[in-house]
Amino acid sequence: MPLAEFGLIDRYFRGIGPALDSTVLGVGDDCAVLRLPADQLLLVTTDTLVENIHFLAGSDPESLGHKSLAVNLSDLAAMGAAPKWATLALTLPDVNEPWLAAFARGFSALAERYRVQLVGGDITQGPLSICVQALGTAAAERILYRSSAGLDERIYVTGTIGDAGLALKYLKDSEQHCPKTLRDRLDRPEPRIEASRSIGGLASACIDISDGFAADLGHLLKASNVGATVDWNLIPLSPHVRRYVDQSNDFSLPLCAGDDYELCFTVPAQREEELIRQVQSLPFPCQRVGKIDRRPGLRFENLAPGLDLLLKGYEHFS
Ligand code: ADP
Ligand code: MG
Repeated sequence: MPLAEFGLIDRYFRGIGPALDSTVLGVGDDCAVLRLPADQLLLVTTDTLVENIHFLAGSDPESLGHKSLAVNLSDLAAMGAAPKWATLALTLPDVNEPWLAAFARGFSALAERYRVQLVGGDITQGPLSICVQALGTAAAERILYRSSAGLDERIYVTGTIGDAGLALKYLKDSEQHCPKTLRDRLDRPEPRIEASRSIGGLASACIDISDGFAADLGHLLKASNVGATVDWNLIPLSPHVRRYVDQSNDFSLPLCAGDDYELCFTVPAQREEELIRQVQSLPFPCQRVGKIDRRPGLRFENLAPGLDLLLKGYEHFS
């Protein structure tokens, strides 16, 4: 396969991220060889981005390099894992070297920031698609499952939600200008690795918000066999989304739009004070939005009455 030449791999994908001591062998043989510390478990996740499905044709390759790794690191963050390694399977319609260089730049900058080493992958020819696998480690007691939320625990959300959804809405509407800060939230999500570190040992359950706040909290509730009440007035919104909701009354956008990659987690009441201390130094907010209760499903307080019904129709809501 001409695309999978060692030349391309050497030029763009060898040496991405730090050379970790725990990597016995990275790019170059039939497999990577990785060493796990004796007391750590391996956590593995994979996510694929397909052109015209997960991103618009002609998207900026540097942003795609960033995002394809970021969405995987977000899954590791949601489970409380420290990111270590990644693999990258690229399907490309042709060899476009400027595209590859920009893609590798975006991927590499994020990999350096979170000390993730690219240890292998594949290049094939076909419709543009990017499949990344991320591997991380965690001590068993630090792993954050989505199934371990308990009654009366507090529900928290990092950052703000709805920004990526609003950016996508503006980008699809040629009449609307999409501000750069908003667009970056869609194109360059920041995996909440530091937040995951801060809440480790305190949070009881966690999920990352990729399908939308309501849907993903719904997954967590279902897995934990509990319900929740969320206060609309506590939902953290950026000024852009706040203005959009005020003008349009479209409450569902921040609650249902995906791609935010914030964390939603629960914490027992008696650990809440310590949690607040821990997250204080983070460069983004961590906001309590509601409480776990016994009745299955997700309920909202302080939300326009019509919307509650609309949300009930939402597949993940019961
Ligand atoms: P094989 O045919 O044995 O699967 P390849 O010729 O596809 O190996 O790849 C050679 C080496 O380069 C392997 O170690 C593989 O993991 C690595 N590699 C291939 N493509 C990529 C990529 N896009 N990014 C990082 N490493 C890659
Ligand atoms: Mg081989």
